[in-house]
Amino acid sequence: MKLTKKSELTAMLKSYGFSFSKTLGQNFLIDDKILKKIIAAADISRKSNVLEIGPGAGTLTKELCASAGKVAAVEIDNSLIPILEAALSSFDNFTLINRDIMEVDIETLTQEIFKGAPFSVIANLPYYITTPIVMKFLESGCAVRSMTLMVQKEVAARMTAAPGSKDYGALSVAVRLRAEPKIICTVPPHCFVPQPKVTSTVIKLSIYEDPPYSVNDMDKLLKIVKSVFSQRRKTLVNSLLGSPYLKADKQQIITALNEMQLDERIRGEKLDIRQFIELSDRLSIL
Ligand code: SAM
Repeated sequence: MKLTKKSELTAMLKSYGFSFSKTLGQNFLIDDKILKKIIAAADISRKSNVLEIGPGAGTLTKELCASAGKVAAVEIDNSLIPILEAALSSFDNFTLINRDIMEVDIETLTQEIFKGAPFSVIANLPYYITTPIVMKFLESGCAVRSMTLMVQKEVAARMTAAPGSKDYGALSVAVRLRAEPKIICTVPPHCFVPQPKVTSTVIKLSIYEDPPYSVNDMDKLLKIVKSVFSQRRKTLVNSLLGSPYLKADKQQIITALNEMQLDERIRGEKLDIRQFIELSDRLSIL
């Protein structure tokens, strides 16, 4: 059965009594060319371990099992489990986990399945929780090599945005602190069933083996970044003073900005990553 053929996919899903859930972000990929582009971008071989989030009907999962060493997939929707078990029954390198990815302890799961070896995350993500999922992996400290992801086009723009641009925000900084983002391709709504209302983008985040930035206190840095971008129309000084995430001292911030040769009235969105790191190192916050 060809899962990328709309009529065959929908007939098969119907035979299981499955109905698509909007709440779970269920838009299944039905485009062979995009499928091939995802696999090519992910750059996997028989030596690779792959973790997929939200396998859906198993379209991408089948390709992953055919190319990778071990594949584990985490799917929240109980009604997809029998469908996935049937679709992937011929593969002995596949483990299906019926859970919410946000509830999964990534460290424990990947230790169990991949024995702590590096792994790649490959997923056509449910758009309602894209950022929490990406942040969970970036912050996990696990051996993630890369993340090849289908995301909403606007989210990909935020991940790759340059300082000062309208899309530059906390997500741009959080991604670039740990990974090199690269846009792979744009994906129009007709490549999915049912069609989403938005355009999508495949993006690859290659996690740095040797991060170009050295960060002394990641927690403090991310609190500063979050504070600045949650009140981005304010000056940096005012956004830090009004932040619910931290307590800062006005004079200390002004001194830090002066020493960094930055204008006291600068907005935080003008700072690049190195400047955020330097500012964080200069401030003592609670
Ligand atoms: N991979 C399939 C494809 O490309 O056709 C389906 C992708 S669909 C955009 C997103 C998938 O994520 C759905 O199967 C949905 O049930 C699943 N999902 C949604 N929320 C989830 C969560 N919190 N944890 C795990 N899976 C989730």
